[in-house]
Amino acid sequence: MKSDIKKLIDAQKSFYNKGFTKDVPTRKNILKRLKSEIKNREKDICDALYADFKKSEFETLLSETQYILGELNDAIKKIHSWTREKTISASLINFPSSAKIIKEPYGTVLIIAPWNYPFQLAISPLIGAIAAGNTAIIKPSELTPNTATIISEIIKAVFPENYVSVVQGDKDISTALLQERWDYIFFTGSPQVGKIVYQAAAKHLTPVSLELGGKNPCIIDETAKLKQAAKRIVWGKFLNGGQTCIAPDYILVASNIKDKLIQHLKNEIIAAYSENPKNSSDYPRIVNKNNFDRLSKLINNEDIAFGGVIDKTDCYISPTLINEPSLESDLMKEEIFGPLLPIISYNSEEEIQSIITSYEKPLSLYVFSNRRQFSNKIMKQFSYGGGVINDTIVHFLNKRLPFGGVGHSGIGAYHGDLTFDVFSHHKSVVRRGTWLDIPLRYAPYSKKMKWIKILEKLR
Ligand code: NAD
Repeated sequence: MKSDIKKLIDAQKSFYNKGFTKDVPTRKNILKRLKSEIKNREKDICDALYADFKKSEFETLLSETQYILGELNDAIKKIHSWTREKTISASLINFPSSAKIIKEPYGTVLIIAPWNYPFQLAISPLIGAIAAGNTAIIKPSELTPNTATIISEIIKAVFPENYVSVVQGDKDISTALLQERWDYIFFTGSPQVGKIVYQAAAKHLTPVSLELGGKNPCIIDETAKLKQAAKRIVWGKFLNGGQTCIAPDYILVASNIKDKLIQHLKNEIIAAYSENPKNSSDYPRIVNKNNFDRLSKLINNEDIAFGGVIDKTDCYISPTLINEPSLESDLMKEEIFGPLLPIISYNSEEEIQSIITSYEKPLSLYVFSNRRQFSNKIMKQFSYGGGVINDTIVHFLNKRLPFGGVGHSGIGAYHGDLTFDVFSHHKSVVRRGTWLDIPLRYAPYSKKMKWIKILEKLR
C-alpha cells in the first residue's frame, strides 16, 4: 500500500515537472471534459448519494452536482484572467522598474474529503487545484463508498493517473498519504483530524487549508419574524439530515418567545417532512451506525420538545427539538452534526456572550432579529467563519464570499476565484532598469542619513 502510494506520487511529480499542467489551454480543456463527464454521470451521482444515506435527488442537485457545475463554468470562463500575470504599479524607490505577480501552481496536492457532502467537497477543491496547474490525489471518505466509487470512475475517465487520481480507503490510507511529502494539503473534516493533518504537514512545512467544523449558534431575539425564522432554521438545520458543517448547532432564543418559537419549528418540520419524516423522500438518514449510536445517546435523559423518534435498522433519527439542555450535557459539549436541535433561552445579552464564548470559534453564526443595531452588533462582536442575519447557511451560496473557518473551525477560505488563489503561489517579480542606478542606498551611508525618511515614503 505504502509503496503504491509512493509510486503514484512520484509519477505525479514527474508528470508535473514535464510542465504539461502549466499550459493554460490544456487546463481549460480538461476542466471542460470534467464538466461534461459530471453532466453525463449526474443521475449516477444522485443514485450513489441516495444509496449512501438516502440523500434526496433535489438536495444532491442543489448542494453537490449543480453547485460543482457552476464552479466549473466559472473556472472555464475565468481561467485566462485568473492565470494572467498581474502588473503591479512600480514603487518609486526602485526607479526605474516594473513589477508583477506570477501565479504559480504548488505542484502535487492532496485533497482529503469528508462524507457529508462527499461529491462537492472532493471536487470543488479539485477544480481550483487543476485550474491553478497542479496535479492532485483525492482521498474521498470511506463512509460514503458509493459516492467514492463514482468519483473514482469520473476521475479515471477524464484524467491520466499521473495527473489526477483517487485513492480510496479509511484512516489508515489517509495516514499513509499524510506521511508523504506534498506541495499543498487541502483537508475538509473534523477539528480532531484537522490537528493530525496539520502536524503531518508541519513535518515538511507543507501549506494547508483546513476546512473544519464547530458549534454554530443561532440567536433569535423578540423582534424576529418568528414563522419565517422557523422555516429558514428548519431548512438549514435538517438539510442533509442535520449533517452540515454550517448547520445551526443550537438555538439561543429570548426567553419570552421560546414557546412560540418551538410551536413554529414544529409546524415547519411537519410542513417540510410530514408527520412521519421517515416516509418523506426528502429526509436523509444518518450516515452509519457509529454516528447513529453517538447521536441517539445524546438525547438520552433530555427534555424532547418534538421528535426523538429513532430506528437503528434504518439509521433514522427524526428532526428533534430539545428543550433547555444543560450546558454541561454531552449534547452541548461538541458539534452535534445530526438532526438534533437544542433550544436554550436567554434573558440578557451578557448570557448570549457567555455561552458563545465558552466554545471554540464556530464555523458559522446566525442571528434573527428586526433590530439592525442588535444584529450588526452580534455580527461584529463574535469571531466565526461566516454568518447570516435572518437566515441560515445561505452565505455558502454566494461564490464571491470566502468560505472557511477561524481558530478551531479552520484555516484558510475558498470558493469562486479564491479557490484558484488557494492552490497558487503568488510570486512577486520586479524588473529593474539598467539605464540608471540611483546611488542613494549604497554604502558609505554617512552622508545619506537625511534621505532615509524620504526613501521610506517612496516604497
Ligand atoms: P473526519 O475528520 O472524521 O474525516 C474526514 C476525512 O479524514 C475522511 O476522508 C477520513 O477518512 C479521514 N480521516 C479520518 N480519521 C483520520 C485520521 N486519524 N488520520 C487521517 N485521516 C483521517 O470528518 P467527517 O466525519 O468525514 O466529516 C464531519 C466533519 O467535517 C464535521 O466536523 C464537519 O463540521 C466537518 N466539515 C467541515 C466542512 C467545511 O467546509 N468546513 C465541510 C464538511 C464537513
